[in-house]
Amino acid sequence: MNSPPPIVFHPGYQAELPEGHRFPMRKYGRLAEILLRRGLAPSGFVEPEAASAELLALAHDSAYVDQVCNVAVPRDIERRIGLPVDDGVVRRARLAAGGTLLAATLALDHGFAGSAAGGSHHAQRATGAGFCVFNDVAIAAKALKRRGRIKRALIIDLDVHQGDGTADCLADDPDLFTFSAHAEKNYPARKILGDLDIGLQDELDDDAYLAMLREQVPGLLDRLDPDLVFFNAGVDPHRDDKLGRLALSDEGLRRRDRLVVHETRRRGIPLVAVIGGGYSTDVDALAARHAIVFEAMAAVHNS
Ligand SMILES: [Zn+2]
Repeated sequence: MNSPPPIVFHPGYQAELPEGHRFPMRKYGRLAEILLRRGLAPSGFVEPEAASAELLALAHDSAYVDQVCNVAVPRDIERRIGLPVDDGVVRRARLAAGGTLLAATLALDHGFAGSAAGGSHHAQRATGAGFCVFNDVAIAAKALKRRGRIKRALIIDLDVHQGDGTADCLADDPDLFTFSAHAEKNYPARKILGDLDIGLQDELDDDAYLAMLREQVPGLLDRLDPDLVFFNAGVDPHRDDKLGRLALSDEGLRRRDRLVVHETRRRGIPLVAVIGGGYSTDVDALAARHAIVFEAMAAVHNS
């Protein structure tokens, strides 16, 4: 049995929030515990470094990067983000961006890798939004292209919310293709359309969702033949999610992740997974749901 794909994690992925804050921050530490307990990181995690301002500015306006790095974000932007943008949250955002880039590099070397954070897909060039400070996936895609590690990438964003920020950050590069499948009536009210957007109706179930994926994903991989796939495996399409509008089960999420992982593997395309959104008050159930994509990668890696 091969060792499972590398997983990037840092204790700083989990920042302190005020008591009772609606963002389920504790899921990051809990997810790390579950991954260790299930033997998915037998040699431990790979630790990222915080992304530099220069790296962050590959996908964001320098003015916004400076505001965040100086912990001096204007009140209206902080409100839009929905998190207190203090030292811990800034460090977390920089570590998550560094972590997704590290995981993407590991995926190019090993075939699969993941970061137990990331998928901050509402962060736009000039502003954070929707619990997202920096767009880790857009930053990593731009950095790898600049370094000559990739020419083309496909972002498969299956978080239940539309990937407006990623579309915004990558609009200037047709070789970094954004695909978002999301609940059409969900946040953000004003979508920023990417290269392919599939708006789904409320209460869509496992079978209908899987049929949609089978219709889209293999054809996209064949047509684009990317050097790397970024997979935002947000678990908020789950029927118990507070902010989702779809009706997937745990098994549906498992089928979803296996499909994406299997289709990329069949074509020899490296895949990096980030965890994306998930909003349930039951942090244990939520963290267990986020572990599904790492299990899917480990299973296919060993098959
Ligand atoms: Zn989401």
